[in-house]
Amino acid sequence: PEAGARGAKPRVLVLANQKGGVGKTTTAINLGTALAAIGERVLIIDLDPQGNASTGLGIDRKNRQTSTYHVLAGEASLEESITETVVPGLSVAPSTLDLLGVELEIANERNRAHRLRSAIQSLSASEVNEPFTYILIDCPPSLNLLTINALTAADAVLVPLQCEFFALEGLSQLLKTVEQVRSALNPELTIHGVVLTMFDPRNNLSGQVVADVRQFMGAKVYETMIPRNVRVSEAPSHGKPVLLYDLKCAGSQAYLRLASEVIQRERALRAA
Ligand code: ADP
Ligand code: MG
Repeated sequence: PEAGARGAKPRVLVLANQKGGVGKTTTAINLGTALAAIGERVLIIDLDPQGNASTGLGIDRKNRQTSTYHVLAGEASLEESITETVVPGLSVAPSTLDLLGVELEIANERNRAHRLRSAIQSLSASEVNEPFTYILIDCPPSLNLLTINALTAADAVLVPLQCEFFALEGLSQLLKTVEQVRSALNPELTIHGVVLTMFDPRNNLSGQVVADVRQFMGAKVYETMIPRNVRVSEAPSHGKPVLLYDLKCAGSQAYLRLASEVIQRERALRAA
């Protein structure tokens, strides 16, 4: 069935890369917004203690009473943590710095890697009307237990890579971790695609990086590249996705194209 058909499970995509500053959070916010703009029902789960996805979606501290910390600690359901955003059709499970401590708190629990997966399963089971069609998980810049929880909960991984000299460095480590999670915890896990971010056509190096990444990852790399665009970096300080801040800018248009590419790949996967 189409994602979003009644009774269908949401597609769970995780934004992962253990490097910081590559565009994970920006992509979670803006891909989520673009998917919502074309009619999907989207939940972003903020799994980074920094809470940048929550802040960038305009969720202030007082609206984070129940957060992903409580969900992973087993003190609240995912449903209880969900907060509406300014974007119709887009909700967020926010995070706070408390999340930093959860790894130690649950380190000795059996099923510590399955906490998020179970929470998402209970959410799908509990929802009656208007279920989410996409869940995007924003990860911290590390391959820690939080990221392992995200990979264990996910159907597929979306890897943001910044168009810079060391883009490929660390990618093999990430792919190895994905492979380990697939064999030990989540056999269904696949790589959805690699999205090149902060592309600058005036910079020769950017072009070289794109060529290298396309050679290394082949068809896994999305056609759409996200350009370096000042409007994209300004939007979070206004608590808005760039699509609400400046719909016409190159960054917004790129995220809309990325959303349709993601949906096309989903259709191809279902048809296969
Ligand atoms: P990560 O979540 O991987 O750490 P972020 O999404 O927070 O990375 O991005 C890192 C920084 O780069 C942020 O300040 C963000 O605003 C900026 N940024 C991300 N994408 C773009 C872009 N396409 N153009 C300009 N700045 C960007
Ligand atoms: Mg981030």
